[in-house]
Amino acid sequence: MLSLPALALAKSALPTPAQAQVVHTRGLDFDQFTTELWKDAQAKGITRTTFAKAFADVAPDPRVIATTKKQPEYSKPAGAYVTSIASATNMREGLKKEAQYRQTFEAVEKRFKVERWVILAIWGMETSYGALKDKWDGIRSLATLAFIKYRDPYFRNELLIALRIIQDGHIAREKFATSWAGAMGQTQFMPTNFVDYAIDFDGDGKRDIWTSVPDILASTANYFAKAAGGWKWGVPWGFEVMVPKGFDLMKSRATFEEWRKLGVTRADGKAFPASGDGILFFPAGLPGPAFIVTANFDVIKDYNDSDVYALAIGTLSDMMQGGSGTTITPWPAGPTQLPRDDRIVLQKKLAELGYDQTRFTAHIDFKMRDFVRAEQKKYGLVTDGQPNAALLDRMGIKRQP
Ligand code: CA
Repeated sequence: MLSLPALALAKSALPTPAQAQVVHTRGLDFDQFTTELWKDAQAKGITRTTFAKAFADVAPDPRVIATTKKQPEYSKPAGAYVTSIASATNMREGLKKEAQYRQTFEAVEKRFKVERWVILAIWGMETSYGALKDKWDGIRSLATLAFIKYRDPYFRNELLIALRIIQDGHIAREKFATSWAGAMGQTQFMPTNFVDYAIDFDGDGKRDIWTSVPDILASTANYFAKAAGGWKWGVPWGFEVMVPKGFDLMKSRATFEEWRKLGVTRADGKAFPASGDGILFFPAGLPGPAFIVTANFDVIKDYNDSDVYALAIGTLSDMMQGGSGTTITPWPAGPTQLPRDDRIVLQKKLAELGYDQTRFTAHIDFKMRDFVRAEQKKYGLVTDGQPNAALLDRMGIKRQP
């Protein structure tokens, strides 16, 4: 959802702490920061009145700074995470919302060609269908992150855009609440996302992603329609598959027809789509569930760059359409994700080894999983494409203590 690489942090996801090298030591105090910011704000058409009102009584928020330093939680196993989101409660609540806003969903689907189920899943994931309200002062949060140069210049730009959103009257300054990292509204758009995707669907002249359900649903659908190549109507995000004995795990990409010929089957017994292609992956490694995912999975990952996030969204949307919500192959009980810093070191090592690894943000994509397969093969490990401690040890990478 974000234009910066790896900025899937947008909504609920958090900025990644290893990049949170807090820089306060440049002698820049906050007044100086706002003085410099004002020059840029003015150049972007922000008025002195908007600016002064936005920053009245705003000081850096130490709680935001503390949050940037927190280690994210790695202990939650992938399966536990997915089932915590793709829960019976979230499914039932989603179905209630679907019934309540059915006409709106019909209009949204007609215009944006994005199925309601994935929009419902995002809405449920991000704010429990609007039940969870953001409590942070958005300007203060964004200004704090910009001031400490967290992921600079990303948050500085988001702050300038936030000022514009307020100036344009979409939301009042005093109501401008966000997540700690500046994500806004019931599906947690960053200010840039607002500019790119927010829609006034109820026709009142405001793009109100905070309180207008039609605007919220249409804006989220518009995001999906446009991001990462655009959502493909009628194409599943993916599904669990069963891989035959003796299957060559180096194979990760094929058409559905090829997958069928290779003996791969859907875990739910249904047929593969008549056309198209998908990527085989093992989000928690073997022995764990295998999935084949389509380009729509990448659209969900554009919203939040995490495989387990996308799996949770996909699974919840399936449940609202009658899916069981559980995998046939059980998820591993323990953690299966390397710590963030280890993933970054691995990414750098892969680049050093000549792989076309260009992202060093700890986010794992399918290109990287193929590189991991190649390294696993080199060392005689199971080529499931899931980076783990055994691989790092064999590659001579010193892991985090
Ligand atoms: Ca509106």
